[in-house]
Amino acid sequence: MNTPHNPTQNRLLAELELAEFHRLSPHLELVDLARGDVLYQADGKMMYVYFPTTATISVDFVLEDGGTSEIARIGNEGLLGVSLFMGGLSSSGRAVVQMAGYAYRLRAARLMEEFYHKGPLLRLRLRYTHTRLTEISQLALCNSHHSTRQRLCRCLLQMLDRSSSDEIAVTQESIAAMLGVRREGVTDAAGWLQNLGIIKWRRGHVIVLSRAGLDAHVCECYATVCHATSRLLPDLPTVPRAGTHAWRPAVGLPVPVLYRPGAQAKPLWVRGI
Ligand SMILES: [Zn+2]
Repeated sequence: MNTPHNPTQNRLLAELELAEFHRLSPHLELVDLARGDVLYQADGKMMYVYFPTTATISVDFVLEDGGTSEIARIGNEGLLGVSLFMGGLSSSGRAVVQMAGYAYRLRAARLMEEFYHKGPLLRLRLRYTHTRLTEISQLALCNSHHSTRQRLCRCLLQMLDRSSSDEIAVTQESIAAMLGVRREGVTDAAGWLQNLGIIKWRRGHVIVLSRAGLDAHVCECYATVCHATSRLLPDLPTVPRAGTHAWRPAVGLPVPVLYRPGAQAKPLWVRGI
């Protein structure tokens, strides 16, 4: 493993005040998430909150007929597990890893302890919740008013924003599940974008050839959600932030360890101090 990992690669953790960050950091566990890993089942108990760094997680609703529709997508700008600090102990949707990568997880019980400090993390979480609600409302609007072509552009742009390259590992089936449409609808929209020279879709991979092309055809929902996210972290008090300091665990405290969900919580790798 060559890439150094750091909790401040998650923007919410990077915005914490140093004192708060030092309280939390010994409890953060680095997890290696594979595409398709299910982190929460619908109505399942939420044992952890997840702060993605390089992974992207989709939250979707599963209907009785097996159909799905994505209600949120979470990358390094956010966290998975918002409903825990709003009093919910189980997840209303299913959370699935959409792009493989890493995240830090924190035990739900530890999060609630921190909640009672009523510090900056509380303010940050409430603001983040507001942003998520904006995104969910906008997605509901988008699903009922905008075309599959426009929604595919939105979906690809949001994935591109969370990707380190112009190539995204995703299948047309999973896009159809995210958008809650038939696969044929995605095939039609993808063919249209390919004919315009905006994307190239190989088996299981999309290469974005022209971001400007996606921008030109996307509905306004993409900009609305971007704007809500950009207002998330602007004006906390001027104190040292975790993201502005080289991170290392406090001396004498346990270091975060890497787990693979479902792998019997066995450490695969321990971060050096
Ligand atoms: Zn839309």
